[in-house]
Amino acid sequence: MRPFPNLTVVEHPLIQHKVALLRRTDTSKKLFRELVEEITLLLGYEVTRDLPLEVVQLDTPLETTHGMVVSGKKLSLIPVLRAGLGMVEGMLKLVPSARVGHVGLYREHDSLKPVSYYFRIPDAPELRDFVILDPMLATGGSAAMAVSSLKTHGAERIRLMCIVAAPEGVQHMLEQHPDVHIFTAALDRELNDRGYILPGLGDAGDRLFGTR
Ligand code: URA
Repeated sequence: MRPFPNLTVVEHPLIQHKVALLRRTDTSKKLFRELVEEITLLLGYEVTRDLPLEVVQLDTPLETTHGMVVSGKKLSLIPVLRAGLGMVEGMLKLVPSARVGHVGLYREHDSLKPVSYYFRIPDAPELRDFVILDPMLATGGSAAMAVSSLKTHGAERIRLMCIVAAPEGVQHMLEQHPDVHIFTAALDRELNDRGYILPGLGDAGDRLFGTR
């Protein structure tokens, strides 16, 4: 498969191991949630690699010196409801001071087109670095709509973190928002005719929240 310029597949062995467990039908809801959080945390290391740093003055027990700290308040996490909620805690463990906004989208049953029903983000979006959280990048319709809404409200620096991506979704994002880099734990084969990722892991929201 030709590489996508907008995609980073984070192939760390621990991530691959956890994704294999996540895919299994016999993985319990409890373990599924824990794995989503752990994979997010590990992906977060890569997603935050180039976060801006600030110089601060600090006192060690011996003297005053300078240190570099992440301007964490400028990082905003945007989980796409509902499955994106499963990724919030993992990212907050890494960057506890990050702000959290929410984008509510669902896929219309027949057309698979995204419909927006909720949008709330921190103020001054033009000053912030946004990370959209959505475990499954399928058609890319929801992700593209989430990005468009953020841009309409002034966001300029946006990245997307998912756990499983389909080539169709990555291609769609490349066409609609080539400036948004995508980080994923796995790039799967294809979508089926109902918009599910193959081999995938099923419906991430249902598996997180036990709704099926
Ligand atoms: N959303 C999911 O939860 N799973 C898929 O396979 C595709 C979209």
